[in-house]
Amino acid sequence: MPIYEFRCNQCNKEFSQLFLNPKEIEKIKCKYCNSRNLTKLLSPFSVHQTEESRLSGFDTSKPRRDEFYRDSRNIGLWAKKRTRELGVDLGPKMDEIVEKGRTGKILDDYNK
Ligand SMILES: [Zn+2]
Repeated sequence: MPIYEFRCNQCNKEFSQLFLNPKEIEKIKCKYCNSRNLTKLLSPFSVHQTEESRLSGFDTSKPRRDEFYRDSRNIGLWAKKRTRELGVDLGPKMDEIVEKGRTGKILDDYNK
Protein backbone atom coordinates (compact mmCIF):
# COMPACT_ATOMS: atom_id res chain seq x y z
CA MET A 1 0.00 0.00 0.00
CA PRO A 2 1.84 3.08 -1.15
CA ILE A 3 2.12 6.10 1.06
CA TYR A 4 3.32 9.22 -0.69
CA GLU A 5 4.63 12.39 0.80
CA PHE A 6 3.93 15.75 -0.71
CA ARG A 7 5.15 19.22 -0.21
CA CYS A 8 2.71 21.96 -0.96
CA ASN A 9 4.26 24.67 -3.11
CA GLN A 10 1.55 27.05 -1.97
CA CYS A 11 1.83 26.86 1.81
CA ASN A 12 5.08 24.89 2.07
CA LYS A 13 3.57 22.28 4.36
CA GLU A 14 4.39 18.62 4.00
CA PHE A 15 1.96 15.80 4.44
CA SER A 16 1.67 12.14 3.64
CA GLN A 17 -1.22 10.44 1.96
CA LEU A 18 -2.12 6.80 1.61
CA PHE A 19 -3.41 5.74 -1.78
CA LEU A 20 -5.58 2.72 -2.26
CA ASN A 21 -6.05 3.57 -5.90
CA PRO A 22 -3.07 4.96 -7.86
CA LYS A 23 -5.42 7.13 -9.93
CA GLU A 24 -6.22 9.13 -6.82
CA ILE A 25 -2.70 10.55 -6.88
CA GLU A 26 -3.73 12.77 -9.80
CA LYS A 27 -6.52 14.27 -7.74
CA ILE A 28 -4.56 14.99 -4.61
CA LYS A 29 -4.90 18.39 -3.00
CA CYS A 30 -3.04 19.99 -0.14
CA LYS A 31 -4.59 19.02 3.18
CA TYR A 32 -4.08 22.52 4.49
CA CYS A 33 -4.91 24.91 1.68
CA ASN A 34 -6.41 22.66 -1.03
CA SER A 35 -3.78 23.72 -3.51
CA ARG A 36 -2.96 21.27 -6.27
CA ASN A 37 0.47 22.73 -6.70
CA LEU A 38 2.27 19.88 -4.99
CA THR A 39 5.66 18.26 -5.22
CA LYS A 40 5.77 14.56 -4.61
CA LEU A 41 8.51 13.58 -2.19
CA LEU A 42 10.15 10.27 -1.81
CA SER A 43 8.32 8.56 0.98
CA PRO A 44 10.34 6.86 3.68
CA PHE A 45 7.38 4.54 4.18
CA SER A 46 7.43 3.17 0.67
CA VAL A 47 11.17 2.66 0.57
CA HIS A 48 11.71 -0.80 1.82
CA GLN A 49 15.44 -0.83 1.54
CA THR A 50 16.84 -2.92 4.31
CA GLU A 51 20.30 -2.56 5.69
CA GLU A 52 21.09 -5.84 3.99
CA SER A 53 20.27 -4.41 0.55
CA ARG A 54 22.12 -1.22 1.35
CA LEU A 55 25.16 -3.30 2.16
CA SER A 56 24.98 -5.40 -0.97
CA GLY A 57 24.48 -2.39 -3.24
CA PHE A 58 27.30 -0.57 -1.60
CA ASP A 59 30.62 -0.41 -3.40
CA THR A 60 33.45 0.33 -0.99
CA SER A 61 35.88 0.94 -3.85
CA LYS A 62 33.97 4.00 -5.03
CA PRO A 63 34.43 7.38 -3.39
CA ARG A 64 31.51 8.54 -1.35
CA ARG A 65 30.14 11.99 -1.64
CA ASP A 66 29.11 14.28 1.16
CA GLU A 67 25.44 13.55 0.58
CA PHE A 68 26.09 9.95 1.41
CA TYR A 69 27.02 10.81 4.94
CA ARG A 70 24.09 13.16 5.38
CA ASP A 71 21.99 10.03 5.58
CA SER A 72 22.82 8.82 9.05
CA ARG A 73 21.81 5.31 8.08
CA ASN A 74 24.84 5.17 5.80
CA ILE A 75 27.30 6.01 8.53
CA GLY A 76 29.10 2.89 9.57
CA LEU A 77 27.96 1.05 6.49
CA TRP A 78 31.39 1.28 4.94
CA ALA A 79 33.10 -0.15 7.98
CA LYS A 80 30.54 -2.89 8.23
CA LYS A 81 30.89 -3.84 4.58
CA ARG A 82 34.66 -3.81 4.71
CA THR A 83 34.82 -6.05 7.73
CA ARG A 84 32.38 -8.39 6.03
CA GLU A 85 34.49 -8.46 2.87
CA LEU A 86 37.54 -9.28 4.92
CA GLY A 87 35.61 -12.12 6.48
CA VAL A 88 35.70 -10.53 9.87
CA ASP A 89 32.57 -10.90 11.90
CA LEU A 90 32.59 -8.48 14.75
CA GLY A 91 29.02 -9.41 15.60
CA PRO A 92 27.17 -7.32 18.16
CA LYS A 93 30.30 -5.32 18.94
CA MET A 94 30.35 -3.96 15.38
CA ASP A 95 26.70 -3.00 15.62
CA GLU A 96 27.48 -1.18 18.83
CA ILE A 97 30.34 0.74 17.19
CA VAL A 98 28.20 1.59 14.17
CA GLU A 99 25.35 2.69 16.40
CA LYS A 100 27.72 4.96 18.31
CA GLY A 101 28.96 6.41 15.05
CA ARG A 102 25.44 7.12 13.91
CA THR A 103 24.38 8.81 17.09
CA GLY A 104 27.60 10.77 17.38
CA LYS A 105 28.47 9.06 20.66
CA ILE A 106 31.66 7.68 19.16
CA LEU A 107 33.12 11.18 19.54
CA ASP A 108 32.37 11.06 23.24
CA ASP A 109 34.56 8.03 23.53
CA TYR A 110 37.42 9.73 21.73
CA ASN A 111 37.16 12.81 23.89
CA LYS A 112 37.46 10.89 27.13
ZN1 LIG B 1 -0.96 23.90 0.96
